[in-house]
Amino acid sequence: MKNCDALRALLAPALLSIGMFAVPVALAQNSLPEPAFAPSNDSAPMPPKSVKSLDLSAIDKTADPCEDFYQYACGNWVKDNPVPADQTRWARSFSLLGERNRYLLWQQLDEAAKAPKTPLEKKYGDYYAACMNTSQIESKGLKPLEPAFKDIDALKDTKKLATLMGELAKAGDAAPLFQFGVGQDAKDSSKQIAQTGQGGLSLPDRDYYLSDSKRFQDLREKYVAHVTKMFTLAGDAPEKAAAEAADVLRIETALAQGSMDRVAMRNPDNRYHIYTVAKLEELAPNFNFATYWAAIKIGHFDTLNVSTPDFFKTVNELIEKEPAGAWKAYFRWHVLTAEAENLPKAFYDENFDFFGKTLNGQKEETPRWKECTALTDRALGEAVGQDWVKEHFPPQAKENMDKLVLALEKSLGDDIQTLPWMSDETKKAAEEKLSLIRNKIGYPEKWRDYSKLKVKRNDLLGNLRRESVFQRDYRLSKLGKPVDEKEWGMTPPTVNAYYSPSMNDINFPAGILQPPFYDFNADPAVNFGGIGVVIGHEMTHGFDDQGSKYDGKGNLREWQTADDRKKFTERTDCEVKEYDGFEASPAHDGMPAQNLKGALTLGENTADNGGLRIAYMALLDTLAAEHKSIDDKIDGYTEAQRYFLSFGQVWCQNQTDQSARQSAMTDPHSPGRWRANGSVQNFDEFGKAFGCKKGQPMYPEHSCRVW
Ligand SMILES: [Zn+2]
Repeated sequence: MKNCDALRALLAPALLSIGMFAVPVALAQNSLPEPAFAPSNDSAPMPPKSVKSLDLSAIDKTADPCEDFYQYACGNWVKDNPVPADQTRWARSFSLLGERNRYLLWQQLDEAAKAPKTPLEKKYGDYYAACMNTSQIESKGLKPLEPAFKDIDALKDTKKLATLMGELAKAGDAAPLFQFGVGQDAKDSSKQIAQTGQGGLSLPDRDYYLSDSKRFQDLREKYVAHVTKMFTLAGDAPEKAAAEAADVLRIETALAQGSMDRVAMRNPDNRYHIYTVAKLEELAPNFNFATYWAAIKIGHFDTLNVSTPDFFKTVNELIEKEPAGAWKAYFRWHVLTAEAENLPKAFYDENFDFFGKTLNGQKEETPRWKECTALTDRALGEAVGQDWVKEHFPPQAKENMDKLVLALEKSLGDDIQTLPWMSDETKKAAEEKLSLIRNKIGYPEKWRDYSKLKVKRNDLLGNLRRESVFQRDYRLSKLGKPVDEKEWGMTPPTVNAYYSPSMNDINFPAGILQPPFYDFNADPAVNFGGIGVVIGHEMTHGFDDQGSKYDGKGNLREWQTADDRKKFTERTDCEVKEYDGFEASPAHDGMPAQNLKGALTLGENTADNGGLRIAYMALLDTLAAEHKSIDDKIDGYTEAQRYFLSFGQVWCQNQTDQSARQSAMTDPHSPGRWRANGSVQNFDEFGKAFGCKKGQPMYPEHSCRVW
């Protein structure tokens, strides 16, 4: 669910991933007459084509790799693969493999829903079946939301907001306004402490509320129209609905004003403020925290991290300023929008129209089977995952990954040794941190226990609520307990990977260890350009502008000398400026061009650049051990060229303009074109491999280098 993902992003240790996808907000409607889980013919799941690793037919040979490498590596693919109607971004690697994994997972869920063979299959099969049962969703109408609406309606005094939020949270309904959870203490990673921070918005970023450009004014108008429509669908008279929508926008705009922006939030020092409970209560006396904490049943604590103190001042003022009626509209809206994807057709059509079509340019609703598969994976990921890996993750894949990770570790060690700008003292500290990185490959050693989660085959919203409470209880129960180093932040079929600064570990789910990233049958150049760069990317996250602030034990502590930190920042500033100059979307229809935000994407860009360099070094080592040369040719391309092409083709993509513009404001990852071109133009070995002339765009006189 939306709220869970947001919570994980802010309160769990920040996970720095390689992937490029946010979960689509809009869930699709299923137009079929059949009940239960049989998909209609036009949305019937089709086995997707297998994904190739290096694909020479994707290359646009009319382009010059020294002028625009992305166009060369991806041009034909981009031309032949427009964004499908049910997507907002379509990438050769992440999307194609994601579709494949989702299809295989669907097969598993569909079978489990029809004829479960184990209690675990029964549980996730029922979860999936309840989601697919759209006729039942239709017949229940808004009835499942009535208890929440009743609680909200009872609010008379704004000083009782904490009681209301507690009631909503207790029942598993959306209780927005701020985030609260348990996570590692940034300065003592062995401790699990209470954490709280900003939240409560519906649009993708604070700037959507605050920017006065015409584009955002228009979007806000459409947002208000959407909120109004949702209230009228829920039974309110049009004038009342319009007034409620105005309340919602006013409260959310005030919350946006009190929120820290994304770039500031990237700095872990900005998010670290240990408060006593008494001091937090002083900061926001209008909100009765003790009541709320009692309702969500968190154990006792005396101090907590308040990641965004100014935000709580805003909340406090707003409680004073806004009448109970406005707060009722705000909470009612959040309950509605949080569940819109799982309410009758009229609601999710309206929800899709705004969040899918208007905000992201998605043309058609996502087939229900895809969304129910994703929903089940999110809810019961380690239940479905343990059966999924039995079928789709051969033990040999793990052995091969262990070897690759070892090769990349050696390269990063060599890279640190030979860095021209770093003092010996800092090099030693960097090596120590590198030696402490833990590797997690494929799936967890120990699976989560779901026995306490009750799933009913005929009760989708009930399942979602019980799951929400189950997940919160699980997170909050960690308070004061030792950190579980074996826990995973992604499910096994996920096509992604991450580095956690507080854990100092790199994590590669089984889902990404397949073509086009990793191919048993491909030559080393192709695999190092694919999964090798992914591994190098995650390792480099430990040393990017955020990761480098944590030591090998995962504690926020400076380990660079002051002089080295200064040089480091000069180098990261070079990347900020460089990526600031890359265009995310051209000017059109009266809208100005939109560039990337170099400061927002800095960590990912640093990881891309470092990953490309150290995977190349690991390839050289591997070829040398096999007495091969980087200049040997296969299919007309040298090993070096095949390495860069395999890397470039990971990033082939198409994206709707709306989604590209949203990503440029909210996504810490650069779009595919710049992940490819930005990285190669900062790495001279590329220009040499393709015989470019110094001074050409992909082989510039001056480039940026951090690692
Ligand atoms: Zn990353």
